[in-house]
Amino acid sequence: MAIDILYDRDITCLYCGKTFKTKRIRNSKLIVKKRDPDFCVHYEGENPYYYNISVCPYCSYAFSGSFSPVREQYKAALEEDYFQKVGSVELCGERTHQEAVRSYKLALVCGSIVHEPRYVMAGIFLRLAWLHRFQGDTAEEKKALAKALELYNLVYEHGEHDKYSMGEHRLIYLLGELNGRLDKIDEARRWFNMVISDRSVEPALKNTARERWNEYKNKGQ
Ligand SMILES: [Zn+2]
Repeated sequence: MAIDILYDRDITCLYCGKTFKTKRIRNSKLIVKKRDPDFCVHYEGENPYYYNISVCPYCSYAFSGSFSPVREQYKAALEEDYFQKVGSVELCGERTHQEAVRSYKLALVCGSIVHEPRYVMAGIFLRLAWLHRFQGDTAEEKKALAKALELYNLVYEHGEHDKYSMGEHRLIYLLGELNGRLDKIDEARRWFNMVISDRSVEPALKNTARERWNEYKNKGQ
């Protein structure tokens, strides 16, 4: 099953422009086990999140599908602060948990050097948190969740939600959920209330926000 579900995909490097093959998961073969309230999906067998980041075998540039081609102005900084330090990296095959985590960490370094937008970086931190969750590593999960929360707060503050693929309501809900997971109960209440009291929010999301808030509220007592 593990062999069947993985396939080689051609990806073009956003830095050097060379094309390489890297593993991906066939979505049609995925079986959902459960969904967490912060949109994390648990699957049976192979984990598609392991393969979200492509790492170029020629230059080691690491990027997600949301990254943009590298602009000229960042190339010198990448050379000095990334390529020279990281050396050659081979992450195009089947990945272990550690290799998946490494691919995310490399993408975070590259993304910060080339100034990928906050919502892109937040999404990587959130998925990195989920990787740690799958392993039961709560301390590392919380560190990554805290970074995701910090960035999603800025996305909201700067009115960048229109770029956020989940839309404004889901972003506000997610801010409530991430605060709750990080035991920031007052903040969680503020965001969940925004979802619950907004008439234009879809009823399903509103109900989930209500349920989550009840859970966090009771935990805090
Ligand atoms: Zn490359």
